Amino acid sequence: MTLLDHPTSTRTLSLLKPTGHLTLGNYLGALRPMALAQPDTDGIYGVADLHALTVPHDPGRLRGLVRETMTLLLAAGLHDSTLFVQSRVPAHAELAYLLECTATTGELNRMIQFKEKGRGRSSTRCSLFTYPALMAADILLYRPAAVPVGDDQRQHLELTRDLAMRFNRDYGPVFVVPEIATPPVAARVMDLADPTRKMGKSHDDGSGIVYLLDPPDVVRRKVQRAVTDSDTGVSAVRRSPEKPGVTNLLEILEACAGPGAAAGLPTYGALKSAVTDAVVATLEPVQRRHAELAGDPGFVDEVYARGAARCRDLTEPVVAAARGAMGL
Ligand code: AMP
Repeated sequence: MTLLDHPTSTRTLSLLKPTGHLTLGNYLGALRPMALAQPDTDGIYGVADLHALTVPHDPGRLRGLVRETMTLLLAAGLHDSTLFVQSRVPAHAELAYLLECTATTGELNRMIQFKEKGRGRSSTRCSLFTYPALMAADILLYRPAAVPVGDDQRQHLELTRDLAMRFNRDYGPVFVVPEIATPPVAARVMDLADPTRKMGKSHDDGSGIVYLLDPPDVVRRKVQRAVTDSDTGVSAVRRSPEKPGVTNLLEILEACAGPGAAAGLPTYGALKSAVTDAVVATLEPVQRRHAELAGDPGFVDEVYARGAARCRDLTEPVVAAARGAMGL
């Protein structure tokens, strides 16, 4: 039997679903912290194209979004990490099937995301029901000691742990059971048009979403139209739970221009100008690098081919051990 790779506390893993254009929220909440952490981490970052098939999809659009996401991860500075596209590493789909054979319908039925997205719809794909097994495979294949997850992903990680423990008990000790870690505090960017919901790439209405590739005039228009609040006193530019729109703009400003950037702004107009300038300045180097890389797709392909080769080396022994333990 091949020796399994030992888990390391520096390995970090994240997969992004290419179901829409990446947003300022993705950048400030995920890509930038991942890039900054590179000197201390063994980062493995994937484009989760298999997960994008769980809802009706158009192959041409998916292909375009995968290419854009690949290029943007590099443009965001993740060149010292292992980058890969999930479907190029066959162990993901294979282990997902083996784990489906250990999960019960009761467990998958309790998954909140399935309840929210799938229940009651007539044309739900089977893969939307079983995708927590694919997500468990995504994690268990890389044997991380701990996985930092926000509240919305906690239930998935609990299921991953349950499946790993059950597998180890019934078939032998194949998987490292990952601890649930609290993620480091990262910016949480809310939708500019509806600041009570997260700025999310899969929302239909993009008027409150700043995309990473939005040109400056589009950023300006979206920020100008951002919801603030109706009262406009001199002390109105401040954070408060009753002012989610203003609070969000202040958070974006500080995340882009540093703490202190929000001090002394007299009006909502001044706040919006400052936010526009700060967001445009933050996106400019990413957009410039994206344009360069988009002109050299062969280079991007090479980086991802290298990443996928490393991921195959890491994951093949794990799936082989799982296969053998199950009697295959
Ligand atoms: P998603 O776009 O939901 O697949 O998320 C991909 C990554 O981006 C995850 O690490 C999320 O936590 C992060 N992310 C997505 N949207 C936001 C947001 N509005 N604010 C902060 N982080 C976000």
